[in-house]
Amino acid sequence: MSNLYHSDMYNFKEPVKSYWENTYNLKNQYKKVESNIKTDVVIIGGGYTGISCALNLSKNFNIDVVLLEAGHIGWGSSARNAGFCCIPPAKMSVEKMFKKFGEKETKKFFKNTIEGSNYTKNLITEYNIDCDLTGECNYEVAPHPSYFKSIQKEAEIYKTQFGIETEIFSKEEFNQIGHTGKEQYGAMSYKPGFAINPLKFLLGLSKKAQFYGVKIFQNSKVEKIKKISNKFNIFVNGYNISSNKIVLATNGFYKDDLIPHLNDRILPVISNIIVTRPLTNDEIQSHNFSTHNPILNVRNLLFYYRLLKDKRFLFGARGDLLGSNKSSKIMAQKMEMQIKKIFPNWNKLKIEFYWRGFVAVTTKLTPSIGKIKNEEIYYSFGYHANGVNTAPWAGKELSKIINGSNSKDLLISKLYLGLPKKFIFSTLRLFYLRLAYIYYSIIDR
Ligand SMILES: Cc1cc2nc3c(=O)[nH]c(=O)nc-3n(C[C@H](O)[C@H](O)[C@H](O)COP(=O)(O)OP(=O)(O)OC[C@H]3O[C@@H](n4cnc5c(N)ncnc54)[C@H](O)[C@@H]3O)c2cc1C
Repeated sequence: MSNLYHSDMYNFKEPVKSYWENTYNLKNQYKKVESNIKTDVVIIGGGYTGISCALNLSKNFNIDVVLLEAGHIGWGSSARNAGFCCIPPAKMSVEKMFKKFGEKETKKFFKNTIEGSNYTKNLITEYNIDCDLTGECNYEVAPHPSYFKSIQKEAEIYKTQFGIETEIFSKEEFNQIGHTGKEQYGAMSYKPGFAINPLKFLLGLSKKAQFYGVKIFQNSKVEKIKKISNKFNIFVNGYNISSNKIVLATNGFYKDDLIPHLNDRILPVISNIIVTRPLTNDEIQSHNFSTHNPILNVRNLLFYYRLLKDKRFLFGARGDLLGSNKSSKIMAQKMEMQIKKIFPNWNKLKIEFYWRGFVAVTTKLTPSIGKIKNEEIYYSFGYHANGVNTAPWAGKELSKIINGSNSKDLLISKLYLGLPKKFIFSTLRLFYLRLAYIYYSIIDR
């Protein structure tokens, strides 16, 4: 079992003290497992990946599905994130992708990732999910004049190679349409791009999954899996669930404890969010903050932020290698200082919510969607902090191979396929991350 982070990160019984949980009444929406069950497919994890996969299996293929979530539905990162629907789900430059995978697969990857954004948007429309959809593009902002050229280049590649609609803005132009804060030396925009209330989206989706027949259980942590003559026996709350197939949809919360073949392949990285009290109109105008589009400050240790519809400011950053509640508070205080540095006129702002969760990074640097060879075990993870775009779509794609017993191939870009290599000396994963943080913070300075 992985002990990479403090046990506070895995306290499945605790509510998440996020701003999002404050916008929704989560009272006992789903039951917990309280009897033995037989089913065709068990999905472990009730985030976007698991719920979307379950919904598609049940709705499109009429397959009997049981979904098990350790916390409440809405406990994981799918209900903790900033709600940015952004691209691409990779930590690899386009140049490297071209070199490693070739032009055709890289172009297909970007086509798929745009399909992912559209899929998320279509789910919201088709199922009429009220999730505070906002924004008509994403902005990437240069934190220093030296970054502007690379942003211009990225916008050009997106446009010419992948047919993505982009626009470039000088610092002065972005002062008018974005904001006049610091660490703003010009920007680019791309479409599609938008933002949502992630918890409302997840709960809307899970309601639909239930409507189409998925048996959803919360407070039902999978403790152990045993295979006995071609059936999986899944142990939850002291009961046994017997199934033919398993889907692991636990992303960054996987503790290397259930399926040995999938262990040591994920580096869970903490991402943190703070949300302020509502800003006054004068405060908003003092930095001419004119947009509700999501904004990414592309420093190596990313900042991401947006103005919420009730005028609160959401600000996110990576960091914290411990994961205790105490270190989360310290991180929030640091982030409050970072906001005030970038937006000096907001020096009286108070933080009203702070929380964190895991994003999943892998050695492959792109997502992994597939099936373990010769086993009826399926997986999808490693969205590199782009789950709003990728996870619902990945869940849908995964459902196709779970259903198609003859064909185990997905018709998606190779960049998504196959497992990442295991981390060498996997107990040192956080040490590697620490080194990366030190290196990036030096460059960012
Ligand atoms: C602070 C933060 C900000 C982010 N911002 C963005 C953003 O703006 N845009 C974006 O695209 N992405 C963002 N992400 C990433 C995004 O949230 C994830 O990529 C996405 O939610 C992954 O979805 P998932 O369903 O695969 O995993 P999750 O939503 O994490 O779901 C996994 C679930 O598995 C459950 N689980 C684990 N072990 C067990 C077990 N043994 N038994 C049963 N259940 C178990 C967990 O309780 C959890 O609910 C952010 C992440 C964080 C933490």
